[in-house]
Amino acid sequence: MSRAFNFSAGPATLPEVVLRQAQAEMLEFGDAGASIVEMSHRGPEFIAVASQAEADLRQLLSIPEDYAVLFTAGGATTIQALLPLNFAAPGQRADYVVTGHWGKTAIKQASHCIDARVAASGEADGFTSIPAREGWQLGADAAYVHITDNETIHGVQFAAAPETGDVPLFADFSSSIASAPLDVRKYGLIYAGAQKNLGPVGISVVIVRRDLLQRPGQPRADIFNYASLAARDSMLNTPPTWNWYLLGLTVRWMLEQGGVEHFAALNARKAAAVYQAIDGSGGFYRNAVDPAVRSVMNIPFFLPDDTLNARFVAQAKAAGLLALKGHKAVGGIRASLYNAMPLAGAQALAAFMADFQQHNG
Ligand code: PMP
Repeated sequence: MSRAFNFSAGPATLPEVVLRQAQAEMLEFGDAGASIVEMSHRGPEFIAVASQAEADLRQLLSIPEDYAVLFTAGGATTIQALLPLNFAAPGQRADYVVTGHWGKTAIKQASHCIDARVAASGEADGFTSIPAREGWQLGADAAYVHITDNETIHGVQFAAAPETGDVPLFADFSSSIASAPLDVRKYGLIYAGAQKNLGPVGISVVIVRRDLLQRPGQPRADIFNYASLAARDSMLNTPPTWNWYLLGLTVRWMLEQGGVEHFAALNARKAAAVYQAIDGSGGFYRNAVDPAVRSVMNIPFFLPDDTLNARFVAQAKAAGLLALKGHKAVGGIRASLYNAMPLAGAQALAAFMADFQQHNG
């Protein structure tokens, strides 16, 4: 067996040790006589797994006690639809800063039940920069300000949390959570699908300041009510237990590796290797994103001619570098460098890029 370097944007590469542990525990969890995936979510084994995962995530991200941590099914898109129902009154204003594709989906999911405004957008320049904070059109009466910390497709990432005064900042961290230290207190709410940095698809995380859970929001079924979910430890119904277990293993692995400080340093080196391969190519490879907001996690880039894309992707795959095809919305190539991607993977990609240029440039 040989595991390749997998640059998939998500579901994405997981640490091999995590997969091996899951494999070893698949038939029998400890001495329980059954797999964790076969046990009740109300039983002592799973309750221990679930609460350890939460404790470890709290430690990893330094989540203060006055923030609740919810584990949800339905992915980040479902969270985008539930934010207005939980935190805005019917028709109330909420401000969205759109810096790429996922900011657009966030506003699309919200606009049917609130007055969702585009407070600023990077669309005019093809989402290659983040509009300056001074130009954002924010309302003091907005329920929240929504940003996408890292745009997975366009490769644009906030360098710091923007100030939004008394209006809470809600941030989609799907593709950047745990990639570097973050100050949770700067946000009212942080959410992320797990399938990039936290583990497998099928489970997401919502980190929310507890006082915001008091907001009445809008008429909704109890299963869509985050306050109810928080009160019942994310178990209003059967949670995705296997995914929660795998998330727990992945978070534990990140702590053992040295936590978010470790990954920030490692991720900076990985991204530098690939950006240097782009910037040092004399224009053969291009990434048009403003260097101040270039993503550390997802690096889209373009070849001189679109017909080279398929050859690049196929030859990379043959060289053990998987899933480099760009998202269809932008084309080209995309390398995702999540926490589980080792430095050797980024270096192998940079070396492949130089070699490919030599033969095709
Ligand atoms: N937000 C961001 C930043 C994403 O990268 C993605 C998925 N790639 C989503 C939202 C949507 O996530 P999901 O497929 O879990 O709904």
